[in-house]
Amino acid sequence: MQLKDELRKLMELQKVDWQIYNFNRQKETEIPETSEKIKIEFEQSKKEFSAADAKFKELHVKKKNKEMDLAAKEEGIKKAQTHLYQLKTNKEYSSKLSEIVSLKADSSLFEEDILRVMDEIEAADKKLKEEKDKLAADEKKFKDETDKLDARAKDIDAQVRQLEDKKATLVRDVNKRILDYYEKLLKSRNGIAMAAVSNENCGACHMKVNAQQINEVKMYVDLVFCESCARILYIPEDIQ
Ligand SMILES: [Zn+2]
Repeated sequence: MQLKDELRKLMELQKVDWQIYNFNRQKETEIPETSEKIKIEFEQSKKEFSAADAKFKELHVKKKNKEMDLAAKEEGIKKAQTHLYQLKTNKEYSSKLSEIVSLKADSSLFEEDILRVMDEIEAADKKLKEEKDKLAADEKKFKDETDKLDARAKDIDAQVRQLEDKKATLVRDVNKRILDYYEKLLKSRNGIAMAAVSNENCGACHMKVNAQQINEVKMYVDLVFCESCARILYIPEDIQ
């Protein structure tokens, strides 16, 4: 069989292999990368919700503690007031009185603190609700996109199987030695083993192809490889 015919078949094969290559690249890199990205987004959303939830709980504990402090102060005031009437001397009386004034000052500070914490709780509650809604939306987005990616992977598998069948039919007629070169290049040259010569340049690596090489290609005696990228050179006008 003429070399021209072999090259024609290789070109057909290259079209199929290029599709297979791109599908595989999508499945092996683009899909896992997208999957990882949406997973990270969802994890981040979970973290933000947990932080808002922890803050909300922490503020409730803080409020409860302040309320207990306030109750203790109020209890102290009550006791001091009861004592007040049992005291004998002016000195004791005025000392107790100033203790009560000091306890009351502390109490009102605690009351102010509690009001502040209640404001903080209100804000934290609002934030928690927002994070909860966001988490629910992000979870749905995560599931939807994961389903979409799974479906895409399955679709790719089906298409690659079809293309592999097509390839199996095409390679049957290709010269074994030529096919070996082609397959090796396909693996080592990112899915492109063939390069069209156009305007005296290699169509794949764009380096110059000298006149002597172009003549060799046109003779169709043996395969001619690009001196820069080692791909199999062909002249599209000759082949079509
Ligand atoms: Zn080249």
